[in-house]
Amino acid sequence: MSPPCENRPERSKPKSKHALKTTPVQIQEAQLIKEEKAAAKREEKRVKEERGAARKEKLRVEEERLRKMQEEAEAWRRRDQDVEWRRKEWVRMGVERDEREKMSAGKWQVAAKEFSDDETGKVPFPIPKLGTQACKRDGCVMGEKLGVCHHDVERVLMEGNGVYDVVYLKKERLKWHPDRFPGRGDVQIMAQEMFQIIQRLIDGPGSPGMA
Ligand SMILES: [Zn+2]
Repeated sequence: MSPPCENRPERSKPKSKHALKTTPVQIQEAQLIKEEKAAAKREEKRVKEERGAARKEKLRVEEERLRKMQEEAEAWRRRDQDVEWRRKEWVRMGVERDEREKMSAGKWQVAAKEFSDDETGKVPFPIPKLGTQACKRDGCVMGEKLGVCHHDVERVLMEGNGVYDVVYLKKERLKWHPDRFPGRGDVQIMAQEMFQIIQRLIDGPGSPGMA
């Protein structure tokens, strides 16, 4: 085994001589400066990255906000369309109902005539009710047995006849005089209610209970 290179330090001597030219303090300082620069660079990079991330986050939040706004606007648009559709549907149904009920007023007139012309007592009492909805107006004068109010009677009389005046109403009132239906139980009661309701219609809006 040959001895380890003992002359190595000899060879590196000039190097260490060269190193000796810069003092250890200088080396330390240089190293420090280098480290500081590297640290500054790292910090700069970190700040840059942080700013980039913040920008990205801000953008994402903004996009999210816009998306939500669009969604909401779309939902409102759909709701409006729906409300509009339902409104139209109501109008359509209302028109149809009015048409039907006008027809009913005419039919009521026919039924009423059949009833008053009848001598067998078998024709049912023509109840002046148009449609199925209850009257929602104030101050209704109700016929308990008939289950209708003076507004209902007013409508059938008005819509079922070309003329609506006191002469016509007095003629109608006479038709339903209870004395014309002696001993006919419910029919007589309903006739009396019709008579009283028509009397109220003749008396007009000034009479008690009229609206
Ligand atoms: Zn009423």
